[in-house]
Amino acid sequence: MQSFKQEQSPRYSALRAASILASYHQAKVIIGSATPLIADYYIAEHSGRPIITIDTKARLDTTAPSVTLVDMTKRASFKKHRFLSDQLIAQLESTFASGKQALIFHNRRGSASTTLCENCGWSASCTRCFTPLTLHADHHHLRCHICGNTEKVPTSCPECHHADIIHKGIGTKLIESELMKLFPDKTIARFDGDNNDGDTVESRYNDLYSGAIDLIIGTQVVAKGLDLPHLRTVGVIQADAGGHIAVIDGIAQNYTHFYEATIAERQRALFPPFTYLLKLTCVYKTEAAAVRNAQQLARELRKNAGDDVQILGPTPAFYERQRDTYRWQLVIKSPKRGSLTQLLTHVPAQHWQYELDPLSLL
Ligand SMILES: [Zn+2]
Ligand SMILES: [Zn+2]
Repeated sequence: MQSFKQEQSPRYSALRAASILASYHQAKVIIGSATPLIADYYIAEHSGRPIITIDTKARLDTTAPSVTLVDMTKRASFKKHRFLSDQLIAQLESTFASGKQALIFHNRRGSASTTLCENCGWSASCTRCFTPLTLHADHHHLRCHICGNTEKVPTSCPECHHADIIHKGIGTKLIESELMKLFPDKTIARFDGDNNDGDTVESRYNDLYSGAIDLIIGTQVVAKGLDLPHLRTVGVIQADAGGHIAVIDGIAQNYTHFYEATIAERQRALFPPFTYLLKLTCVYKTEAAAVRNAQQLARELRKNAGDDVQILGPTPAFYERQRDTYRWQLVIKSPKRGSLTQLLTHVPAQHWQYELDPLSLL
């Protein structure tokens, strides 16, 4: 459903545009998805609109994929490489040997330096936002990039009390360079938020479809239901970087449990659909300028915001440094959408970009 959002200017949500257009014409909107967004499902369920579940497969001749979970807290799982499991490497080898294609998916959250227990797999996350905390080695603390909450770096695991606390961050570029070393004669293409306009999934679709690209590496941009006839293997690196529930329910294909657990978490942390969100991001040449301007705007907004508005931050954006620029952000919550749009009149036109109803705060 992420693909229904136009991420370049003019930024808009096709779902929202369709809903508003339908209300003008008293028309009905039918929203269909194999992967319905949690917030959309909740709204449909609580507004008395019918939800029709289709349990039969679109094509009866397809076989369900076999899914294997590899426990990377066990050293025996990865003897050949430090973050690619032996099983994944073997599977890639056999896929290429039979002339087929493979895709390596990496959650964007995995690229930040997260703190985890090597013994039990516990990872540090914000108690308010349930998102992973990021290590800031320069300040010796863990920080939530959404609300700015900071915590001390633990010396032992709060769950199992082992002292094997490690910090790791694996970016898509690193995955690409490591796979190039392992498979030097294969054609590898990487797709993530950093791609140039000429190197997007859309522009290289023919090579993806024909199998001219042997190995695809990417973030969320490659996970939106591409139809790839030569694709044999999908590897997910650090699958639990998006949370343990998602992995377990994903393998079991248990949308209902995933939905119920996630909606309860969002209700506690006050995230959509229980509130509206506005994300403001500034881009400056220096970190000092980004911090100063973000603080200044936060002060200005706090002066003008109503009681229903909560302003989080400023915090460094998840991708703090991008192409020699620095990004800081503010996240604003309110149960009234109008309170958020009203604040936009205070946002400078230069250096700032805003996103209403962001699907991701990263
Ligand atoms: Zn532990
Ligand atoms: Zn937080």
